[in-house]
Amino acid sequence: MTAPHTTGTSGNSRLMDTPTGMAKRADFLAALDEALHEHQQQDTTLAVVLLNIKGFRTINSIYGYSAADRILQQMADRIESVRRQQDLAGHIGVDEFAVALLNLKSPHLAELAANKIITSLDEICLDDGSPIDIKLHAGIAVFPEHGSTSDALLQQADRAIYTARETYQDYQMADNSQQPDASNSGLVRELEHAITKSELELYYQPKVDLQHKHLYGAEALIRWNSPKRGFIGPDEFIPLAEDNGLIFPLTLWSLNTALRQSVEIRRLWPDFRMAVNLSASTLAEIELIELVKRALRTWDTRPDRLMIEVTESAVMKNPEASIETLRGLRKLGVRLSIDDFGTGYSSFGYLKQLPVHELKIDQSFVKGMASDVNDARIVQTMINLGENFELSVIAEGIEDEETLYQLTSMGCNHGQGYYIGRPMPREKFMDWVRNSEWTRTGLTEPSS
Ligand code: C2E
Ligand code: CA
Ligand code: CA
Repeated sequence: MTAPHTTGTSGNSRLMDTPTGMAKRADFLAALDEALHEHQQQDTTLAVVLLNIKGFRTINSIYGYSAADRILQQMADRIESVRRQQDLAGHIGVDEFAVALLNLKSPHLAELAANKIITSLDEICLDDGSPIDIKLHAGIAVFPEHGSTSDALLQQADRAIYTARETYQDYQMADNSQQPDASNSGLVRELEHAITKSELELYYQPKVDLQHKHLYGAEALIRWNSPKRGFIGPDEFIPLAEDNGLIFPLTLWSLNTALRQSVEIRRLWPDFRMAVNLSASTLAEIELIELVKRALRTWDTRPDRLMIEVTESAVMKNPEASIETLRGLRKLGVRLSIDDFGTGYSSFGYLKQLPVHELKIDQSFVKGMASDVNDARIVQTMINLGENFELSVIAEGIEDEETLYQLTSMGCNHGQGYYIGRPMPREKFMDWVRNSEWTRTGLTEPSS
């Protein structure tokens, strides 16, 4: 059975209507909860397979909304054709399908089913019959091991998708041991302490000019080495800082530390441009402009020597306030970059309004481009887009020579990635600047 139509959401993206004729989120969840209730009574197993389409918004941008709708329709038809009669299926987010496998004899059968569904979605075609390589990741959560409500199961399946993506697998079973730490309050206090007691450190990763083959700048990336807990990555503590009122002092610290460091780097490389990341909540704060102005003054830095990176999804969280702040920053003369471009939910309409100078192509497209012609096409489209909007384009996540070469010949302006240089602590980065092939011409101090 498939449940009737309704309205649903997927992350930030609202699904007001589905072109697929499948159940929408709310109806799928209601039917799943009902099924869960029955399974509880009968003591049987049920599994939810959540499927996420990689980069669906980019498919929208490249092929247009109607073609993208027809792609979704084909996918829905395929899922319908392989699911068992008794199972529930839904199109529960713009880029998400879910199938609930009822009365399972064994949880392992869920993996077989996920595999079957993913295989059925091979060779999706455009209107002209040409195949389009759609990448999917699936997460599987089983009742009762991973949860006993529709919400809990979907949350676990969603987390499993994240793991599948990170480990380059088609699908992944949820893992109870990966529950987030519920006792965050201690960590928050330690983070507060870390900001004032300089347990934080900035690493610097080179950004290079691919066409002229020289250093262009660096991105400052924060690190926390806690004496108590060891190394904690920014993906873990930045959201914590955002949720606990610590993001402002943290941003103030990164901005000032990065600008102070860039004074030293410019002695070696006068055209150096320092990039600092800003997170979603600071972007909506108008005081941010004052804070940036003050930091530039303190470190006697020309505004165009500072680049601020904001993710596309951070802007989209609160587009109006973000655009206002970005306009204010641009007025100061600061350069602006849209980070993780291609993964957020901005439309061309917004892109036109964003007062930015640079598009930073997300590494998920860059990493795959040497082996996947569709990723390469998407990257080329973004480079062309940048050219048409008179924006400079940088690719992040360059991990090998082939990708570097490919991007250069595609006309990409700038590049960043492990192949060029990893994020490095201050001293190591200074050595890199002195000795790298990207600074062979133009150093203002003889290399040591
Ligand atoms: P991001 O801004 O997208 O930064 C790029 C991430 O990709 C960095 O991870 C970097 O180390 C990694 N990376 C760079 N080149 C490669 C490559 O070739 N291959 C692979 N696999 N990875 C590469 P990192 O340092 O863990 O930072 C994660 C995220 O944390 C950043 O993503 C950024 O959103 C956030 N972040 C880092 N520092 C700050 C900060 O000072 N303030 C704020 N608000 N956010 C920060
Ligand atoms: Ca960044
Ligand atoms: Ca990025």
